[in-house]
Amino acid sequence: MVEREKLSKLSDLALRHRRVGLTKVLPPLGEVLRGSLMERYLTCGHPDCKCTRGERHGPVWYLSLTLDQSHRSGCTVPGDQVEQVRRWIENYHQVKENLEKISDINRELMRRQKDKAKKRKSAKK
Ligand SMILES: [Zn+2]
Repeated sequence: MVEREKLSKLSDLALRHRRVGLTKVLPPLGEVLRGSLMERYLTCGHPDCKCTRGERHGPVWYLSLTLDQSHRSGCTVPGDQVEQVRRWIENYHQVKENLEKISDINRELMRRQKDKAKKRKSAKK
């Protein structure tokens, strides 16, 4: 909301520059992953195991994601993939955030174009 108010104060040129800038700082689009990484500590069920005394096994890493309102999906993530998964999730959020910002700029530019057209029309009358 605050961001949008700020946009309305910038010139068309500044908005276009900002838009170009946002497309340039995108992470590699092939390296994105939607979901959240979760760390779990588990009990194995053996009555003699240390995990029954609170020393649980783990961490076991999960990638969890919402498919739609009623479906979730997930899978375990091997330890050596955790860093990559973390990075790709971060990339996903950055891409999404930048797309939102670009979209905001485009809506602001659209609004201005409409205003200008309206002014031209009323000037002709
Ligand atoms: Zn155990």
